Amino acid sequence: MRTVRTIRELREALRPARAGTIGFVPTMGALHEGHLSLVRAARRANDTVVLSIFVNPTQFTEAADLEAYPRDQARDLRLAEEAGVDVVFAPDAEEMYPAGFATVVSVGGSITETLEAEGRGRGHFDGMATVVAKLLLAVLPDKAYFGAKDAQQAVVVRRLVADLNIPVAIDVCETSREADGLARSSRNVRLGPDERRRAAAIPQALRLVERLAREGETRPAELRTAASRILRENGIEEEYLAFVDPDTLERVPAVDRPTLVAVAARVGGVRLIDNVRLAQGEADR
Ligand code: AMP
Repeated sequence: MRTVRTIRELREALRPARAGTIGFVPTMGALHEGHLSLVRAARRANDTVVLSIFVNPTQFTEAADLEAYPRDQARDLRLAEEAGVDVVFAPDAEEMYPAGFATVVSVGGSITETLEAEGRGRGHFDGMATVVAKLLLAVLPDKAYFGAKDAQQAVVVRRLVADLNIPVAIDVCETSREADGLARSSRNVRLGPDERRRAAAIPQALRLVERLAREGETRPAELRTAASRILRENGIEEEYLAFVDPDTLERVPAVDRPTLVAVAARVGGVRLIDNVRLAQGEADR
């Protein structure tokens, strides 16, 4: 495995790999099993696997969150190598945003105005879209891998790639979960033992929604009330729990069609997100 810090070195390292296929997994490091599941998917389908590690300051809308974001590059490099990564791209902020940097990639429309944008501000998506565009253009992979946990991110990335004609296929892989259902996240290490236990109420709430919907409940308000109760009983502060169209992210009036149930909640000081996709009505379409 090779680790490179500059775009010039990255391009150099990938020149021979262009004869085959390149799979790319962008991350902010603090690697966990969720990231590694993306690496494995990339490994299965490509000749060369590139992983990037970059805690992108421009997508953080809270300075304290950026400050507290876990970083352990020695461990990350070890895990990446074990998982079969060929090239790690780990630039510093000056490499990605040198003096004079002035371009922002801003994906417009409802997909960047709702959900995460409501809590974190749409600046989050400008920062994310800009860095993803830069990373995709630096690596120029055949396929890039993203996690379903960040469902809105995947929608925004697909839009960005289509709109800018970036020649890369986007593969969204299923959410990797702990034994109690909690979605794996780099932020989970910041949960205290009691918070970690209570955090399992987030996937429990989503599973309850799934069950009630399967049993025929189609009213978002009813489903939301049941899920919110579980969160409240576990001392989890709900930021949003929304029933949206999986493509447009606009609120659905009834769960009689494919629906993404997306939740953001705070457990103690840690903000977590998760989602589940309900396939309702898919068979009738
Ligand atoms: P991050 O380092 O949090 O920016 O995540 C890097 C990539 O890993 C993103 O595409 C995430 O959606 C994905 N990812 C994070 N957590 C998980 C998970 N639990 N399961 C699957 N993919 C994940």
